[in-house]
Amino acid sequence: MDIASIKRVLAEIPAHVTVVAAVKKRTPEEVAAAIECGISNFGHNYVQEAERMIGTLGRNVTWHFIGALQTNKAGKAARLFDMVQTVDSLRSAIALDTHCAAAGRTMPVLIEINSAAEPQKSGVPPEEAEVLARELVQLSHIRLVGLMTMGPAYGSPEDARSCFRTAKIVFERLRDADIANASLSHLSMGMSDTYKTAIEEGATMVRLGTVLFGRRT
Ligand SMILES: *Cc1c(COP(=O)(O)O)cnc(C)c1O
Repeated sequence: MDIASIKRVLAEIPAHVTVVAAVKKRTPEEVAAAIECGISNFGHNYVQEAERMIGTLGRNVTWHFIGALQTNKAGKAARLFDMVQTVDSLRSAIALDTHCAAAGRTMPVLIEINSAAEPQKSGVPPEEAEVLARELVQLSHIRLVGLMTMGPAYGSPEDARSCFRTAKIVFERLRDADIANASLSHLSMGMSDTYKTAIEEGATMVRLGTVLFGRRT
């Protein structure tokens, strides 16, 4: 990881796309370097690790939860994060909503779509997104602001393209459905290997780890 290479990556990303630095297993020094490069959105997968990191680095940046949302961690997630990108069931949404109500805040959330239709994967099947969306907007302490997807676990960026297209189609369909109390403005897709393809296919937010910081050890 070095400042110059982070800056090179950022320079090629269009201004309308938000970079979320994925910082699982990174050191506070690495995150500080990213902040120095102008990154202000950070994603973490693990509530416990994130708590320590936020304790060290403070709340002057925006923290996104991008890991599997377990209901027993929903309380901490509700207090720590500024956005939760991985809502994929009504059950976890209700847990999050309850804890956000207790914390006196409203959490922006994304529905995670299983666009690769991989059986082991998190995320709702694309065809179930609208039903979940209509349930989420009934909850008063979360606010639906978009969709997130991972794409295929393996394969080339071109393999990911059809998944990103699927997510984009669902995103457009939900926008056209004009669901009350939702404001669908974020489409979070693309990681280090696939973000260029994702941007071509309409991502408004990319989640980058390796390409910014080097391989995780
Ligand atoms: C780790 C992670 C990323 C970033 O992965 P890289 O391949 O290192 O860029 C993006 N999204 C999620 C959900 C992750 O867990």
